[in-house]
Parts: sequence; structure tokens; C-alpha cells
Amino acid sequence: MVVEYQLRVLPEQAYSEQSLKRYLAREKGKDERTIQAIRVLKKSIDARQRTVYVNLTVRVYINEMPEDDVWIQTEYPNVEGKPAVIVVGAGPGGLFAALRLIELGIRPIVVERGKNVRDRKLDLARISRDHKVDPESNYSFGEGGAGAYSDGKLYTRSKKRGNVDKILNVFCQHGASVSILSDAHPHIGTDKLPRVIENMRKTILQCGGEVHFETRMDELILENQEVKGIRTNQGRAFYGPVILATGHSARDVYRWLYTHQVALEPKGLAVGVRLEHPAKLIDQIQYHSKNGRGNYLPAAEYSFVTQVGGRGVYSFCMCPGGFVVPAASGPQQIVVNGMSPSNRGSQWSNSGMVVELHPEDLGEASLTRFMQEYTESQGTIQDIIRTLDVSGNWAGDPLQHPLALLYFQEALEKQNWIQGHYRQTAPAQRMADFVHRRLSYDLPRSSYAPGLISSPLHFWMPEFITSRLAQGFETFGRNSRGFLTNEAVMIGGESRTSSPVRIVRDRETLQHLVVKGLFPCGEGAGYAGGIVSAGVDGERCAEAAAAWISAVKG
Ligand SMILES: Cc1cc2nc3c(=O)[nH]c(=O)nc-3n(C[C@H](O)[C@H](O)[C@H](O)COP(=O)(O)OP(=O)(O)OC[C@H]3O[C@@H](n4cnc5c(N)ncnc54)[C@H](O)[C@@H]3O)c2cc1C
Repeated sequence: MVVEYQLRVLPEQAYSEQSLKRYLAREKGKDERTIQAIRVLKKSIDARQRTVYVNLTVRVYINEMPEDDVWIQTEYPNVEGKPAVIVVGAGPGGLFAALRLIELGIRPIVVERGKNVRDRKLDLARISRDHKVDPESNYSFGEGGAGAYSDGKLYTRSKKRGNVDKILNVFCQHGASVSILSDAHPHIGTDKLPRVIENMRKTILQCGGEVHFETRMDELILENQEVKGIRTNQGRAFYGPVILATGHSARDVYRWLYTHQVALEPKGLAVGVRLEHPAKLIDQIQYHSKNGRGNYLPAAEYSFVTQVGGRGVYSFCMCPGGFVVPAASGPQQIVVNGMSPSNRGSQWSNSGMVVELHPEDLGEASLTRFMQEYTESQGTIQDIIRTLDVSGNWAGDPLQHPLALLYFQEALEKQNWIQGHYRQTAPAQRMADFVHRRLSYDLPRSSYAPGLISSPLHFWMPEFITSRLAQGFETFGRNSRGFLTNEAVMIGGESRTSSPVRIVRDRETLQHLVVKGLFPCGEGAGYAGGIVSAGVDGERCAEAAAAWISAVKG
């Protein structure tokens, strides 16, 4: 017999199958010995009240065993000799596009500028140890994309449950824990992600697809507003329609598209800092207990959002029990981000704390001054943007220049690097000191491996950002007592929350608005934010490319 229950239990009752069996025997009058297995279908933690509960939907197998596969298996046929689609970028967008192409009987040719997911790891270690960033192999570039050495949080605001479930099931088929199918906030962990990504690559290769590492697309082959293929840094050409899933750090790709007049538009962005607290403190606050998470709860999460001066201020990509990592993708940059292992067991919890920026905000005095310092110019922001655009292609309002916010991102990342003393040591300030505009005389211990340098972020970051962050922190501190504290450190800077550019595409066909056969995809194109939504967009682009191939072939 199989029975489903909705349960609201204490953490110690939800902790293991054994503890759940005991609970069901007692509360539902079941004989514990007859319960063969319990499958958790949904799980969420309710920490709104003083007593923390776990809400569960469980399927209980009484006197019978459960079926083997708990995920929905996708069949991948052999596609050798089938028409090809080029997928540029092996991040979540590109990998899910490639797998979906195979499902649809099309041969993916994946071209990735970085290394395979294992070799890439050595280059990540070098960033912290030697302060050297390999511009082709880093936290953004390489197999698995920005998602590979990330937190592996798999939640998304997408309302299309079917699409999201498909992505989660494909992850399970490639080795992710089945708990991601039931957790309200599913999470794979940076230690488990590389194996899952390798298995996805194996599926692509076994089915007859191709994967080329250390192969960078340097240009699209365009003829009469149609893409015919790509040329690479290896001097090779690949022919076919192109799914362009190069992520938001491939600034050379944006620049190439812009100078070759492939239409782009500017997109809002959010920038700020990574904020790191002791994990125990966050656990104490969120679980309302001086004992913190105790033995049965995971490291606590939080999510804050407010409006200050007409712009959103919010926490982003929160990593409980995680690490702050150096995520620059080139020289003379400091970019920080967060990740966590599957057990979320580190002593720290961090999140991006960011302020929303619109392209027209660059005209505000403190942002303009910041750009003047960056370019050593006395000109207006319009003059500065015209000067930064060496192509001279732009005739419109400079504040609507497609690369305007990208230029600002570059300025901010360079200033963080200068303030970090020209290394990957990041400028940092204690949280309460920042709010009270005081320099921090010392800094707390941090998970950020390259090291921190005390810096007056309140002084040199643009007032547009610092005033909003400070007010946001005061609001968050009022709503959550203990959150605004000098035990927390702000680390500069969080600048890659999303793409500053959109590669414009048709809503129906998903092709570029002008260039036929080109499918801008994922986060870099401005149509996704996070692993799951990039995966969903990858699948959609694959379907659109398949439809284009069958239309062209008649
Ligand atoms: C440290 C970190 C932690 C994160 N944590 C999370 C998280 O927990 N949950 C979450 O949902 N999101 C997280 N993110 C964001 C998430 O990783 C991205 O949203 C997601 O990876 C975007 O997928 P994508 O495929 O669109 O682009 P990307 O993942 O950026 O992949 C783009 C790929 O294209 C390749 N490429 C670029 N240019 C070229 C070229 N010219 N030729 C060939 N290849 C090229 C790159 O090398 C890269 O592999 C994190 C990001 C970072 C950096």
C-alpha cells in the first residue's frame, strides 16, 4: 500500500527516514516494521515563528517497495550524421541546449573557450594563491560556465513549473541528488556539480555530438543578415545555425556584436558588495535561538528587499555556510561572488547586497564623477561614453548606448582592484562602520581566500550606491535584529549580478531580431538569471533552432 501525507513536524522528526518512521508509527498508528520506505515529495522549513517546523509531503510505502527511478528519464537518441547546430558556450544555457537538440534529433557542436571542468579547478586555485586570473579559465569561463563552481542553488522565480521540473530531472539523471526534486530551495553544492556536468558532457559525446574545449568563438560568419557559422581562435570554422550562450562575462562577444552592428540594447543591472556574516549569527537570527541551527536544521537562509530613492536594494544569491570567491574573468578586475558546498558547513554565510541601476542613472552626479575618475576626463557622461566607444558607431542618446552599463561595470571592477592594492585582495569594511561612515581599523576573519584590505567603501564608491546600501542595511537591521552588525564584513564588489546588455531577439522565433539563424541564449543574452532559468532558455533555444532547420529544409 502507498499512502501520501502532508506533515508539519519538528526538525528532529524530519531529520532522517528512521525518525520519520517513528513519527508515523506514533502519530498515524502505523506499524514501523511494515514501512518499507518513505519518499519526500516536498520539503520546506517554516522559521517564521519561535518554534521552527518542517513542512513535508511524503509518500509512504507500506509492505511494498518503491519504484527504482524517482526522476523522469529523458531518452537521448544517436544523432551522428544528423544536421548540426553550433552551441557557443558550455554553461547551463549551452549544455541544456545541446541535450535538448539531441532529444530533437539534431547534432550539437559545442564550442567552449575554457577548459574542461576538472582542469579548470587548478586555474581557480591560482587566482587565490598567485593572484593571477587566466582570462580563458576562471570562475566564469570553462565547462559548466559560471554555474560550475557556484552554489548550485536551483531555485528560480520562473512560474513555468513544467520547464523547471524538466531541468531538475535532467540534473538527477546526470547524478544530482534526488532531494532537489522535493526541496523548496534545492541546492547541489560546488563539490557535487563538476561530476554532474561531466556526465552531461558524456551524454552529448555518446550520442554523437561534439564538445571542443579551449576553443573560443572569435567571430560569426554573416552573409546577408544570416549567420552561416563561426570562426574560432584555433583558425577553424564550424557551419550551421548558432545558439549563442556565452554568458554575461564575455565582453569581447558583446563588443564584436556591437562593432558588427548586430543589434543590442542596454539592460538594467544591480551592483554593490558581498556581505559576509558568521553563519552562527545568521542561524541565531533566522531560527530565533541562541543555539543557532542545532543538530537538525541546515544553515539558515535569508532574503531582504526594500526600495530606497526609487531603486531596489536587495540581497542576491545568498550562500548559507558558504564562501566568498574571486570571480574576476580578466586582469585588473576584482569581482566577488558566493558559493557553498553541499553540506553548507562553512563558518560563514554570505549574500550579494546590491542596488539596482538603470542606464540613465549614469547621468547622476556621483556616478558621472566615478566615470570621470576612471577615464581621467572632465567631460559630461555623454562625452565619456562617446570616448569609450572607439567604434564611433553610436548616433543616439549616449545614456542609451548598448554598452553604457558595461563600461560602468568595468570602471567599478577596476576601482575595486586599485583599492585592493592591484591584487585580488579585496577592499572591505565592517558593516556598521560603513553605515556610520567610519574606516574599519581591523576586519573580521573571512572566507575570502585571497585576503581583505580595510578600505572606506562609503567614501570611494559612488554615493548613488552607498547611500542606498546604507539605508537598506538600516531597514534590514530593524526588521531582523542583529543583522546590522560590525561582525559582518562588506567585500567589494558584486558587479556581475546579471547582463548589462540584451541581445535582442524575436519573442516567437527566438532568433536575433535582424540576423537569421542566430539564437541569443541564456544569461549573457539577457533572457535568464541563474542556472535553472539559463537551462530553461537553453532548451527553448534548441527547440527554436530545430524549428528553423526544418523550415529552411522545407
Ligand atoms: C561563483 C558563482 C556562484 C553562482 N551561484 C549561483 C547559484 O547558486 N544559483 C544560480 O542559479 N546561479 C548562480 N550563479 C549564476 C549562474 O552561474 C549563471 O546565471 C549561469 O551560469 C548562466 O548560465 P549561461 O549558460 O547563460 O552562462 P554562463 O554560465 O556564463 O556560461 C557561458 C559560457 O560561455 C563560454 N564562452 C564565453 N565566450 C565564449 C566564446 N567567445 N567562445 C566560446 N565559449 C565562450 C564561457 O566560457 C562559459 O562557459 C553563480 C555564478 C557565480 C560566478
